[in-house]
Parts: sequence; C-alpha cells; structure tokens
Amino acid sequence: MSLPSDVDVAIIGAGAAGIGAARALERTGRRVLVLEARKRLGGRAFTRQLEHDIVFDVGCGWLHSADRNRFVAIAEQLDFPIDRGRPHWSKQSFNVGFPKHEMAAYMREMDAFYDRAEAAAKLGMDRPASDFLGPGNRWNAMLNCVSTYINGVELDRVSIIDMSAYEDTEINWRSARGFGALVAAYGAPCPVAFDTQVTLINHSWRRIRIETSQGTLEADKVIVTVPTNLIGNETLRFRPELPQKIEAARGLPLGLADKVMLALDHDGEALPKNGHLRGSTTKVGTGSYHLRPQGLPAIEGYFGGSFARELETAGEGAFADVAINEIVALLGSDYRRKLRPLAVSTWERDPFANGSYSYALPGHHDDRAKLASPVDDRIFFAGEATSPNFFSTCHGALESGIRAAAEALNNVPH
Ligand SMILES: Cc1cc2nc3c(=O)[nH]c(=O)nc-3n(C[C@H](O)[C@H](O)[C@H](O)COP(=O)(O)OP(=O)(O)OC[C@H]3O[C@@H](n4cnc5c(N)ncnc54)[C@H](O)[C@@H]3O)c2cc1C
Repeated sequence: MSLPSDVDVAIIGAGAAGIGAARALERTGRRVLVLEARKRLGGRAFTRQLEHDIVFDVGCGWLHSADRNRFVAIAEQLDFPIDRGRPHWSKQSFNVGFPKHEMAAYMREMDAFYDRAEAAAKLGMDRPASDFLGPGNRWNAMLNCVSTYINGVELDRVSIIDMSAYEDTEINWRSARGFGALVAAYGAPCPVAFDTQVTLINHSWRRIRIETSQGTLEADKVIVTVPTNLIGNETLRFRPELPQKIEAARGLPLGLADKVMLALDHDGEALPKNGHLRGSTTKVGTGSYHLRPQGLPAIEGYFGGSFARELETAGEGAFADVAINEIVALLGSDYRRKLRPLAVSTWERDPFANGSYSYALPGHHDDRAKLASPVDDRIFFAGEATSPNFFSTCHGALESGIRAAAEALNNVPH
C-alpha cells in the first residue's frame, strides 16, 4: 500500500491495541490508516505453525480472565475454537522434584506474600514487592521466579500498588489455532500500511505531520500504541517534545519473557496432555514447562526476567539447552533423545517490541494513567501499558485501543 498524503486518524502500530482502535473506528466515516513497522499484523501477538501442526504462540498464548476477555467473543464470531482446558501451573506432573506437601507449603507462602503486599498497597505505600518476602523464606526464589513470568522482572522492580491493581479472574483459556492467529484474523479488515516505521510525530501545526520510513503524511488525530520502551528510548519521537510521556513510559518498562518450543519425538504420550513441570523450586532462573499443549507432540518452555535476558545474550540454542537439561534432570536421560528444539522467541532483541510486557517500577503506579491521557485532544495513547487493570495482556491492549478510539472520535472533524 502506498501512503496517502492525508487521513483523519492515523494509528501507530497494528498490535491488539491498534487493531482494537481501527475496528472501533470502522463505519464512522473517518479516513483511518494504521501505520505498522513490521510486515505483519499482531505485534506481540504472533502465531507460528510448526511441523506436525504444532501451534507456537511466540508472544501471548493465554486468554487470561477469559470470562471478561473480549477476545473470547471475537473468537466465537470468527469461528476460532477455544480450548477451555485450565492451565496446570500449580501442579507438578508426576510430583517429580516438587512433592505435593511442598506445593501446599509454597501456595500458603504465596498467598501470605500477596496478602502482605496488598495490605500495604491499600495504605497507599508504593514499595517494591520484594519488601514483602518473608526474610530468609525457603520459597522466596520461587516467588521471584514466578514474578519473572508474570511481570517479566524480579520483585525488587515491581510496584505493589500496580501489582495489586491487576485484575485476574483466574480463568485462562487458549485459542486452539493460536492467540496471534486470532488477533491477526480480527485485524484482517483494517487498512494497514505495513513496513512503515513512524519516526516522528510533529504536532507543531494545526494538522499533525507524521514522518515514516515510507514518507510523510498528515492527520487530524493520532493514536499511538507502540510499546513503552520505544517511547522511553525515543525511537519514536514527538515535536514539540512530550517529556511527561517519555517519563511515564520509562516508569513502565517492558519486562522480558521468552519461550522455546521443543518437539517431543517417540512415545510422547507417556507425558500427560497439558501437564506442567517447574525446572527447579530453589532457583530464580529456571523454566516452566507446558507438556503436550493441547495434546500436541511438544513441550513449551517459558523463561523470564534476568535469566531470559542472559539466555538471549548467550545466543542460539541457549533456551533449548537449559530446557532439555532441566527436563532430563526431572524425567530421566531418555528425554535427551526425545526432545528437539523447534523454535524460540527473542523479544528483547525485537526492534519493534524491545521486551515482552510492561510493569510499573516502585513509585510509578500512576504512570499508566499519565501515559494514557490525551495531548491537546489530538494525540491519544493506547497499548497494554495504558490499561488500568489488564495491563501486560492482549485483552488489556484491545480495550485500550477501543478507549483511545472513543476519545479520538469525540473531536474528529467529520
Ligand atoms: C512471551 C510473551 C508471552 C505473553 N503471554 C501473554 C498471555 O499469555 N496472555 C496475554 O493476554 N498477553 C500475553 N503477552 C502480552 C501481550 O502479547 C501484549 O500485552 C499485547 O500483545 C500487546 O499489544 P499492544 O497492541 O499493546 O502492543 P504490540 O503488540 O507490541 O503492538 C504495537 C505495534 O507497534 C508496532 N511498532 C512499534 N514501533 C513502531 C513504529 N515506530 N512505527 C510503526 N509501528 C511500530 C509494532 O511492530 C507492533 O506491531 C505475552 C507477551 C509475550 C512477549
């Protein structure tokens, strides 16, 4: 698509937020265009089909809070089957390396930790979540490890007020054909200019001038949905500058989570469908393994925080090596020949994401509202990081896009 010289509303980014905004502006009579740096839809929602029909959601995989998740109705409309099987994160298949009584002790400590943090958050004290770990507690490493999966960072970087604001109904489903595939199908009708990286939003004039890798266009309104790190590090710039937006984005950096998909060859059925293993209960840097997701002959490993960063830096094969070694340590050396690396994510290295999902630094819980607030009623901000309660998720991103579209519509000349 060649760039038009002028639109009513330009949306920067074709992830869930940008797609949500574009779909909400359909049939409103406005000329809308989504400007997307990649050659595909979905952003951090991206499904790859691997061998043997293995579905690899490189980014988001779970429809969290599924009973309040707008993507469930979208999946039904688009005839995308939903797998309503619950995740087994709080189970250890075969109880190997993590017997039931230890799991019960961990769950008790986890509840106590969140209760302590939440009570302090209610008093308005925004402190690092790590302050609420029990001194010397045996489960601290595991609580920190789980934080790297949930927040993409260890607890010392997490604001307790923000952590407590997150809403989770604890119902988690999957789109059987992939969450990324669902987001892309929902975005298919949107007008998108691909391969178009926006570098500058110049709002010095009555009309906004948008400089991109494919040329310049003008718009009355702009909806910005790019990940916070790209605003914080000024890969995307504004003129006049918007220091309060840069500051808010820096208070909400992206944590890191990465996945590896391993093929499971030979008698894979010995493992339970949708089983789960934790690599270790004593280390912060360890994987979480989803065995035979949806019955497929595969194991999906999940890594977060500094450990994921270390493995990205270590280069090709590092995630698979750790995953295979941890699974072999739990299930036996036979698994060394049964497992084969298929695919891996490297979200920090991704130039249009630069990380996985946002967390709020201690003292920065109100940066979500600051980032979300419009500038001069013509630059609007969406994206998962602007969601007050569903941040870090794909449905939160979608809702934020719908919210920004409504704000923009209020004042678009028609
Ligand atoms: C490993 C991993 C696991 C996850 N698991 C889950 C999960 O199970 N459930 C869940 O709900 N969420 C999960 N998430 C989070 C979820 O994927 C994101 O919150 C959501 O997809 C973000 O959508 P967004 O529209 O805000 O941002 P993005 O999807 O990042 O969209 C922004 C778009 O802007 C584009 N862009 C960037 N810079 C520019 C520029 N300068 N010019 C033009 N375009 C630009 C990007 O290419 C991108 O397409 C996971 C994410 C990761 C990485």
